[in-house]
Amino acid sequence: MKVLVVNCGSSSLKYQLIDSETEKALAVGLCERIGIDGRLNHTPAGGEKVVINDPLPNHEVAIQSVLAALTDANYGVIKSLDEIGAVGHRVVHGGEKFASSVVINDEVIAAIEECNDLAPLHNPANLIGINACKTIMPGVPMVAVFDTAFHQTMPKEAYLYGLPFEYYDKYKIRRYGFHGTSHSFVSKRAIDVAGLDAKNSKVIVCHLGNGASISAVKNGESVDTSMGLTPLEGLIMGTRSGDIDPAIIEFIAHKENKSIDDIMTILNKKSGVQGMSGVSSDFRDLAKAADEGNEHAKEAVAVFAYRVAKYIGAYVAAMNGVDAIAFTAGLGENDGKVRKTVCSYLGYLGITLDEEENAKRGFENIITTKDSKVKVLVIPTNEELAIARETVALV
Ligand code: ADP
Repeated sequence: MKVLVVNCGSSSLKYQLIDSETEKALAVGLCERIGIDGRLNHTPAGGEKVVINDPLPNHEVAIQSVLAALTDANYGVIKSLDEIGAVGHRVVHGGEKFASSVVINDEVIAAIEECNDLAPLHNPANLIGINACKTIMPGVPMVAVFDTAFHQTMPKEAYLYGLPFEYYDKYKIRRYGFHGTSHSFVSKRAIDVAGLDAKNSKVIVCHLGNGASISAVKNGESVDTSMGLTPLEGLIMGTRSGDIDPAIIEFIAHKENKSIDDIMTILNKKSGVQGMSGVSSDFRDLAKAADEGNEHAKEAVAVFAYRVAKYIGAYVAAMNGVDAIAFTAGLGENDGKVRKTVCSYLGYLGITLDEEENAKRGFENIITTKDSKVKVLVIPTNEELAIARETVALV
């Protein structure tokens, strides 16, 4: 079956058409600047990227343009839309309602809408994508795959905050966690590659991309994760602060005469390694600046790696041990230097890095020596493939 995987943002729409038999992407693309002017980047497998500058006034037009690109005589990859067997939608927040993926119907749409409060930037955009596909491809089954679902197995001690209980009761304020599709995919691959028994395994997944989170996966189930009610909590990220003393919000508000909204923008968009270094949110730029002697860039990377190591320590405690630690996403898969710095804190676990293996990239790999007590792995994530698999399984 051919599955269209859609990841809809407020002004963007990423897509892949995946052949579920070969598990290969037939085409990948991105609609940008929806509602502004519009640009569609479309790349058929093995072909050149095509940039189409037609206006994209809304998401329905964007989906229509994607379908036109997929069936185009020159750069398309299918002859007719009938070839698309199902659509898999990434949905950011499923609240406590969704512990797994679901086939989308009107009830499910209403339930996703009810989670809008919990992810006001993401869920409404995801719903726009769902509704646009529903209008344009009414007969094609659709599945929602939630970023939060994998973490719904967390026990209360991991998901409750130290707040008055009424806030959980009234508003469902608790830890949800994100990147669940990636944590699920990567933990399963890590169990396989490390040769562990899934039912008796303790795995820590470090998803280090522009957004970064870490999870503790015991016997195949998420038992804790670093992102919380929103993706702001936990690790230091490209532009997000991660954990801070909440009193800092009031302190800055008073000193700088700023509103809560201003501060939230600072914490989400102007902090992290970008804010710390004043250089960039991209670790490639930070490495270059650090090499040129920029102290703040060096500090930002050092603080980032320390925070990752600290969370690993916390999750070893949460699971009373660890068998494997997997690095994934843009930074986790590519930056051997950051992996090495993180592992330099983990000697107490009996971890010995194999420097030669750690320098390689682009494939699933064990980067510790044979006698290392805990295996450290690099596992490339593939959230789109995971969404396509879930979609096929449900339709
Ligand atoms: P997201 O999906 O959260 O936008 P990605 O998983 O694509 O992010 O990761 C993007 C980040 O990965 C970049 O901002 C950069 O910091 C890091 N990254 C990507 N490639 C490399 C590389 N070759 N070396 C170091 N860091 C890299």
